[in-house]
Amino acid sequence: MKNTSVELSIVIPIYNESSILLELHRRLRAAAEQITTNYELIFVNDGSKDDSLNGLKELARSSDKTHFISFSRNFGHQIAVSAGLDHAKGNAIVIIDGDLQDPPELIPALYKKYKEGYQVVYAKRKSRQGESFFKKITAKLFYRILSKITSIDIPLDTGDFRLIDKIVVKNLQKMPERQKFLRGQIAWIGFQQTYVEFERDERKHGETGYTIKKMVQFALDGITAFSDVPLRLVTWAGFTVSFFAFLIIIYALISKFVLNEVVTGWTSMIISVMFIGGVQLVAIGIIGEYLSRINNDVKNRPLYIIQETDVE
Ligand code: UDP
Ligand code: MG
Repeated sequence: MKNTSVELSIVIPIYNESSILLELHRRLRAAAEQITTNYELIFVNDGSKDDSLNGLKELARSSDKTHFISFSRNFGHQIAVSAGLDHAKGNAIVIIDGDLQDPPELIPALYKKYKEGYQVVYAKRKSRQGESFFKKITAKLFYRILSKITSIDIPLDTGDFRLIDKIVVKNLQKMPERQKFLRGQIAWIGFQQTYVEFERDERKHGETGYTIKKMVQFALDGITAFSDVPLRLVTWAGFTVSFFAFLIIIYALISKFVLNEVVTGWTSMIISVMFIGGVQLVAIGIIGEYLSRINNDVKNRPLYIIQETDVE
């Protein structure tokens, strides 16, 4: 391990991308060299089942600026990126997908914004080419809903392709939560954030490593990490149900005592069912309120992040 400071680190998660590694490496190097010769590429092999690991070892041998980290199995995209960030030494760190959907050629533009004084420069996609209608619509819906139910501004239509200052990485490491949702965490951390727009290419080789199951898991991680709204919904549902239950109870009483037109036993049964249903949901909602607070504490995030101060 060398200790000299590095100007630019690029972190690339890799899952079954062996067919494009050479092109990826060439384009990343070309982009980095436009910025500085003092850069490093950190590839994280997330338990690929193809020949990616050998390809990465080969690349690391061919250049002393290229490094690799290889996981014992597939831990998932967000964790692969986290591992790369933990090992990056750069003042500026770029996170980029390894499937060339994020064009490496955009990195100098991200870096330019960084030099203008931004600590987070994310790449915002103008269009997503070659992705299925299903993927586009679910992604769109997900980010719209997420931004409605969370209090932090997670930028719309961005992936993890972005440049972050090393101070942001330091703060990310202070968020020890195990469910990683980096784009949300980075938004939560704050600092000066801006974006650069680009056209997202289609995946040229291989196939998406995000199965439906991984996508749902990822969406749930994002929502539960940054929103209490689902828990709050239970409380609201409880009060709403109780309200209607109350109306039905009144109706049941009227039918029995005023209209005298009910089957024996119906009144007491409907009253108890309605009453218990409402009480149960309200009770679950109350538990939910506590749970959301425990959830917040367990995440053990820093209470605040200081950007500048003159106190020692
Ligand atoms: N990836 C990973 N682990 C996984 C799935 C994906 O490291 O379990 C990597 C993958 O190699 C790529 C990036 O994460 O560099 C984004 O994945 P992908 O392109 O499959 O996602 P999509 O673009 O379809 O959302
Ligand atoms: Mg992709």
